[in-house]
Amino acid sequence: MNEFDYVRENAKRINFEIENAKAKYRSADDKIELMAVTKTVPPEAVNVAVESGITLLGENRVQEYLSKRDFYDKSARVDFIGHLQSNKVKYIIDTIGMIHSVDSVKLAEEINRLSKIRNKITDICIEVNIGREESKSGVMPEELDEIFYKLSEMPNIRVLGLMSIPPKECAEKFFSKMQELFIDIKSKNIDNNSVSVLSMGMSSDFPVAIKYGSNVVRIGTALFGSRK
Ligand SMILES: *Cc1c(COP(=O)(O)O)cnc(C)c1O
Repeated sequence: MNEFDYVRENAKRINFEIENAKAKYRSADDKIELMAVTKTVPPEAVNVAVESGITLLGENRVQEYLSKRDFYDKSARVDFIGHLQSNKVKYIIDTIGMIHSVDSVKLAEEINRLSKIRNKITDICIEVNIGREESKSGVMPEELDEIFYKLSEMPNIRVLGLMSIPPKECAEKFFSKMQELFIDIKSKNIDNNSVSVLSMGMSSDFPVAIKYGSNVVRIGTALFGSRK
């Protein structure tokens, strides 16, 4: 027992809701991963999530990630999901799992460059600003093809899919558009079938995201409670 036991209960409930959405909208062998979004959450609470079976964590901020990563249960992979400046890639490249939030060729070039030096291949997703919101990062939908081709040619990154944070209003319409873009990008990538990740859906809307093909839902509030 500890003060974060509620995280265990929340994880159970969220998994149940994911299973429900899957039963309703998807096929039985589809894999839908639950990511625990850890911004502002103390590592002790995060580790309760890991103990309850969540093996994927998502960090938003470089500084916060660096201060917390050593305290995380090593059985979980930590992905980066926040806006990332090119000059900060060097701080995370050695330990990060996938970078979901690649939103420019410049950022991709830096990830590619540093990965090459380290003799590794870094998995990334391209973030799409599907609602065309000024307040959000991501490439515009009409830029996606061109950026996808450019990034696909970089030998030390692997473009695994797309990520998005659609507007709260009309989320369903935007999830549906993301699904179209995802199918389209997959069809353009016949050489190697690496495009497989559609990262979308948060606490308030993940069942709808699952309806439209999401296979990574990123959950913070519903798991850890509201952020201070
Ligand atoms: C904070 C955050 C989430 C989780 O949001 P909740 O509404 O708390 O579930 C998911 N994705 C990104 C990129 C975030 O910054």
